[in-house]
Amino acid sequence: MKITRVSAIVLRLPQVTAACDGTQDTCLIKIETDEGHTGWGEVDSCPTVVKAIVEAPLSHQICNGIANALAGADPLALDSCMHRMQSAANYYGRTAAGAHAMAGVNIALWDIAGKACGRPVYQLLGGPHKTRFRAYCSILFGDTPAETYERGRRFADLGFTAVKFGWGPMGQSEANDIALVREARRGVGDQVDVLIDAGQVWDWKTALKRAHQFTEFRPFWLEEPLHPEDVAGYARLCAASPLPIATGEAEARFPDFERLLVEGGLDWVQPDPGRCGISTMVEVARLAHRLHRKVVNHSFKSGITIAASLHGLAAAPHGEVFEYCMADSPLRHDLTVEKFPVVDGYVHLPEGPGLGVTIREETIQKYRVA
Ligand SMILES: [Mg+2]
Repeated sequence: MKITRVSAIVLRLPQVTAACDGTQDTCLIKIETDEGHTGWGEVDSCPTVVKAIVEAPLSHQICNGIANALAGADPLALDSCMHRMQSAANYYGRTAAGAHAMAGVNIALWDIAGKACGRPVYQLLGGPHKTRFRAYCSILFGDTPAETYERGRRFADLGFTAVKFGWGPMGQSEANDIALVREARRGVGDQVDVLIDAGQVWDWKTALKRAHQFTEFRPFWLEEPLHPEDVAGYARLCAASPLPIATGEAEARFPDFERLLVEGGLDWVQPDPGRCGISTMVEVARLAHRLHRKVVNHSFKSGITIAASLHGLAAAPHGEVFEYCMADSPLRHDLTVEKFPVVDGYVHLPEGPGLGVTIREETIQKYRVA
């Protein structure tokens, strides 16, 4: 089999705000082959930058676009394809958006591999260890503690057993930070777990103080309290925090996850397949298992990313909970025919070949801008 085309498709809602909500736009990766199999991936990054990286023309030997790097390659030689891209993007794309673009390609290549042999991706990865995961509802904080309370009530009523609140006004003041978590807990009630995603707002000493202040509201974890580069801060925080600490969504390369786990001492690591690819997600999950730490997906995109996350998590021996984005956007809910319903608080693995998703072309046509 040979790759005949790699496309990057940018989708965008008519109105995009400054809210920390990744469902307002997206970049899809579509890989076509000479045997009729088409693979789909999705990237959680800056969509137009990713498209430029995919489509970049040849500049010289180690500065080429990703589509050029994959022209004519065998998509089933998946690891070889990853190396071709890394060589082509050697000094402009090793990190950040370059790695994100390759992550989207990695998802699409796994989709092709599964379709070519008629099996779901999780089987090719050696799974499943589990066929369903406890879904936590992932939303943003309200603009105020009172709005956060209302959101908690609304989403706990949808049948989730855990609700995560993220970003928004966290970090503005000590009193407001505490009020946000108090109202989040009050909103979801005593029977539902509450998860707090701070959104990179503190230094480690402030984060440790907040962890103690939040303890009475019994958060399941405290997520991404520090800047992603502050591994030394994570090490000090994790060693002393009364709450489990989660982070990792900002990383794309295995060594960076490894550093966070080994040096940072994380309790939960959160790979996003739309930033690190399914292959690295599984590698990270298995490292976490070896280190007796926990793994959970990060996903704030469409059904493509949800499916990729489910397959990756099912290949980990200790997958347990699942980030289930409930942002109210058609780019979250209408891009795949499959809706991944949460039943009794659980989301189930897709069973079709490849990722097990069917793309809704009409949604692409409606929101495509590049
Ligand atoms: Mg987060």
